[in-house]
Amino acid sequence: MSETLERTKLRELQLRRVQELLEEILPRNRFYQHKLGNQRVKTWDDFLDLPLTTKAEIAEDQANNPPFGTDLTYEMERYTKLHQTSGTTGKAPIRVLDTPASWDWWARCWGHVYRGAGVGPGDRIFFAFSFGPFIGFWAAYEGAQKVGAMTVPGGGMQTEQRLRVMLDNEVTVLCCTPTYALRLAELAEQQNIDLANSKVRATIHAGEPGASIPGVRTRIEQAFGARCYDHTGMTELGATGFTCQAQAGVHLIETEFVFEVIDPSTRKPVPSGALGELVATNLGRAGMPMIRYRTGDLVQLDETLCTCGRTFARLNGGILGRADDMVVVRGVNVFPSAIEGVLREFPEVSEFRIEVFSQRSMAELKVLLDPRPGSENNLASRVANRLNERLLLRVPCELVAPGSLPRFELKAQRLVRRAD
Ligand SMILES: [Zn+2]
Repeated sequence: MSETLERTKLRELQLRRVQELLEEILPRNRFYQHKLGNQRVKTWDDFLDLPLTTKAEIAEDQANNPPFGTDLTYEMERYTKLHQTSGTTGKAPIRVLDTPASWDWWARCWGHVYRGAGVGPGDRIFFAFSFGPFIGFWAAYEGAQKVGAMTVPGGGMQTEQRLRVMLDNEVTVLCCTPTYALRLAELAEQQNIDLANSKVRATIHAGEPGASIPGVRTRIEQAFGARCYDHTGMTELGATGFTCQAQAGVHLIETEFVFEVIDPSTRKPVPSGALGELVATNLGRAGMPMIRYRTGDLVQLDETLCTCGRTFARLNGGILGRADDMVVVRGVNVFPSAIEGVLREFPEVSEFRIEVFSQRSMAELKVLLDPRPGSENNLASRVANRLNERLLLRVPCELVAPGSLPRFELKAQRLVRRAD
C-alpha cells in the first residue's frame, strides 16, 4: 500500500521521518553531532544543506575509534548484530552494527524485494551462498519470514550439491549473485540437468548489477525457465531497491530511504533523469544511521509511474556502474557492465576478464574470453565485431584455455587493472 503513495505524500512522509531520525540520534550520536553541529531540518532545503557522508569518513572514524567508530546512537549493549563490508579494494572492511529494531527494519525492506518478485507463502527460497560476515544474505534470509516463505539454506556446499538440494526440495525461488546463477546453469548443462523444467520460477540477485543487464538476465531466465529480478543494497545502508514484475528498472524503497542523484564532481543534484551518483539516507537504522551517504554507484533515475502501479522512483537499467569502475578509452566512457551485456549475448562465452592497461599513458582495454569447449571457432573476432558495433569502440579480444579464468560465488572481480 505504501508503495503506491502519491509522490507529494511520500515527500512529506520522508521529511517527517528525517526529522524523527535526527531527533533520535543527535542527542547521543557523536559522529553526527560533530558533523551536523547545530544544523536542523525544517524543510527540504535544510536537508539538502546537510553535509554528505562518505565511506572514507566512516572508515577513518572506525580506524581512529576502533573497532566500531562513533556513528553509534545507543550504548553498546543495545546492539545484537555485527556484519562487515567485503573490503575488496584492498582497504579495511567497514563494520556495521544493528539493534533488534534496525535488524527488523532490514527484514522489512527485504519484504519489499520479495513482494516485488511476487514471492510469498508457499514459496521455497534457496540461498545459494556461504553465510559469512556479508550482511545481504543474512538479511535476505530473515526477510523471507516477513512474506511467509520457506527458507532453504545453501551454505557449506559445492555447486553440485546445491543443484541437488534445489531440485530435491523443489525450490521455487533462487537467491544468489547473477554470476553464481550462471555458474549453476553452466554446471547443470555439463551434467545434463534440465534446470529450465525445474520448479524454480523466480531468481533474485544481489551483490552485482548483472540482473539488470539484458544479456545476463536473458541468459539466466532461459537457463532456469524463470523470471530474473534485481535487487540493490549496501551493507552501510540497507536493502535499497528491487525489480517488480514489470521488470522495468529497479524501484527504490522510498518509504524507508531518501534518495538523491548528484554530480560526483560538483556534488550538486543532476537534472531529473541524468546520469549521476546515488546518495541515500536510511530512515530506519537509527542505531548506526547514514545521512546523505555517497554510494559511489552511477544511476539514472526515472520518477514516472511504473505500469505495476508503484510510485517508487526507478533506476533505469539498475546500477550502471561504480563511479571508480568507469574507464575512458579514446574519449569514450565505458562501463564494464556494458561490455558484459554484449559478451553475455554469446552463449559460447563461459567466463571473461576485462583488462585495463595504459599504452602511451592512455587507458586501453583488452577482453579475455574463456570459451565453452568446442566453440572456439572465430569466437574472438565475432565478439570483437559485436563490441565494435555496440560500443563504437575497437576492443581486442583473446581466447584463453576453457575453464582457465576464475569462477566466482560472491562479488565477481572481472575488471583487472594492470600496472604496465
Ligand atoms: Zn514497477
